[in-house]
Amino acid sequence: MAHLLNDRDLSFFLYELLDTEALLERERYAEHSREIFDATLQTARQLAEKYFAPHSAKGDANEPQFDGTTLTLIPETRVAWDAFADAGFLGAHWDADDGGLQMPEVVLRSAMAYFFAANVATASYPMLTIGAANLIRTFGDAAQKKRYLPAMRDGRCAGTMALTEPGQGSALGDIRTSAEPQADGTYRVRGQKMFISGGDQTITANIVHMVLARIKGAPSGVRGISLFIVPKFLVGEDGSPEQRNDVALAGLLHKMGWRNTTSTVLSFGERGGAVGYLLGEPNRGLAYMFQLMNEARIGVGLMAAAIAGRGYALSLEYARERPQGRLPSCRDPESPQVKLVEHADIRRLLLAQKAIAEGGLALCLIASALFEDQQTHPDAARRAEASLLLDVLTPVVKSWPSKYGCQANEMAIQVLGGSGYIREYPLEQLYRDQRLNPIHEGTEGIQAQDLLGRKVVLAGGAGYRAFREAVAVAVTAAGAHPELAALADAVAAGQENLDACTRDLTALLESQPDRALANATLYLDAFGRIVASWVWLRVACAACRGLAAEPAAADTAYYRGKVQAARYWIEWELPVTASQFALLRATNAVALDMRDAWF
Ligand SMILES: Cc1cc2nc3c(=O)[nH]c(=O)nc-3n(C[C@H](O)[C@H](O)[C@H](O)COP(=O)(O)OP(=O)(O)OC[C@H]3O[C@@H](n4cnc5c(N)ncnc54)[C@H](O)[C@@H]3O)c2cc1C
Repeated sequence: MAHLLNDRDLSFFLYELLDTEALLERERYAEHSREIFDATLQTARQLAEKYFAPHSAKGDANEPQFDGTTLTLIPETRVAWDAFADAGFLGAHWDADDGGLQMPEVVLRSAMAYFFAANVATASYPMLTIGAANLIRTFGDAAQKKRYLPAMRDGRCAGTMALTEPGQGSALGDIRTSAEPQADGTYRVRGQKMFISGGDQTITANIVHMVLARIKGAPSGVRGISLFIVPKFLVGEDGSPEQRNDVALAGLLHKMGWRNTTSTVLSFGERGGAVGYLLGEPNRGLAYMFQLMNEARIGVGLMAAAIAGRGYALSLEYARERPQGRLPSCRDPESPQVKLVEHADIRRLLLAQKAIAEGGLALCLIASALFEDQQTHPDAARRAEASLLLDVLTPVVKSWPSKYGCQANEMAIQVLGGSGYIREYPLEQLYRDQRLNPIHEGTEGIQAQDLLGRKVVLAGGAGYRAFREAVAVAVTAAGAHPELAALADAVAAGQENLDACTRDLTALLESQPDRALANATLYLDAFGRIVASWVWLRVACAACRGLAAEPAAADTAYYRGKVQAARYWIEWELPVTASQFALLRATNAVALDMRDAWF
């Protein structure tokens, strides 16, 4: 049976591509060891295999039901949640003093990849809870932390992020949910939220909703949004649920994929007002929420890479087993059929999936390592540098694996032919699950506007320069391996084209923002292709280092596979940027100039 995730990939990325063992020199991780990191990954794999993967298809076929009074979910969801919580994963990143395991972010993200590959819908409940708890850990006061965090760590209480409303999605500045201050310091929250994942469920005794709302009289737009803790049940000082709050499940939404995650419409305050507690300062809610959104954006990239990886593993397994046809050079109709994997076109489909899935995973782990450096690197300058680079990369980390993950899952179906299209095989479910990733946590179009309109010009372009520097370092390192010289030259040339295009478009941003941003999604795609080329060049370098040690046959094949995937991406996919940059530098206005009446 195909693996959920290639264990060798995780150890290669953690210890040969990234220097994760160096984290052990940091004070926060001094008590840990590589054995502990590896045991954490092994536990994640075992739990994912035992409690998450087996009900992925069942959760898809039996989506949550709500009859107006009672909500039902398949019982395996709760068993999986309990196993996840009991193993300590909900608080694994937290400090030991707070009851956590004090694990590095990059190790935890690697562990999460197993759960996402096994069953992304069930794994969403813990992912959202970890993010919501992190908001309270960072911005909550002592009483709020005491009240909510222990229950969110040990699995009695889950968390959600409640931003979207029926009337607004991408435009968060238009949020209408209101919050009215009360004499006792609490607020009464009123309004409706839509698409809230895990907004109600039958897994935990309580749910903490992290709700964006506007305090009465606050400025309009994004500057007037605050963040509130609104629990389903009001809790006592020790966090135990007491009285029901005025938050009601108005209905469930029925989705294409990701079905075992409840997608809810929530009504706040239909019976007078839901009790809400302000987190941090008024009107800073969106800035706070960006912490969770940035975390979730790396999480979405990781989900996309994991789902693409699962499709790749399953289609590779099928291609190695199914005999079909003969090679063009074979003229003997009596000769045995070859396995699908022998056909060059099937190899192309598999190689492209490998480049996307493994490249996406490597990119997300690089981003997680940057997050780690941003938080715990002992050198302040390195912390700042990691922060700048992560900032500019985040839209790509979210959107490149999501967009290309859809293509990878489509190719996985193609490898199976007719069997890929039928529900007896899991490929079509993976494809449906994957399709959410370019939509939630900021659509692809919104990530594109963020990248070109904000991130590349932020701090005078410092983040962009940090990326250029990182590419230059990878190109120089690749120069040490003659086999990679042509790939390094191609990446360097691609980066120069990106520089020129970025200069042109950012110059136009001030005077003609509509025109400059009209093709932002094309820019994001071209930028993403360069980022993926940078990642693959680094991976190929690490593989060449491995090959130089003349390893055993299995490892030699493993490293050769990495170099070949790097060649695929840089020789086949990077050159596409030439025509993209030509359109972008000409500030092609064909879409901008189109008129509604002409459609
Ligand atoms: C399964 C699922 C789970 C979700 N979970 C959550 C959750 O837990 N919490 C939560 O708060 N939300 C959640 N969402 C909501 C999700 O974040 C939104 O659907 C998303 O942000 C897009 O908003 P929208 O659906 O209103 O689309 P719209 O904002 O109406 O966008 C529609 C299209 O227009 C484009 N567009 C919009 N504005 C612009 C612009 N200014 N410039 C160019 N193009 C633009 C978009 O890119 C998109 O292609 C979830 C959604 C789904 C489907």
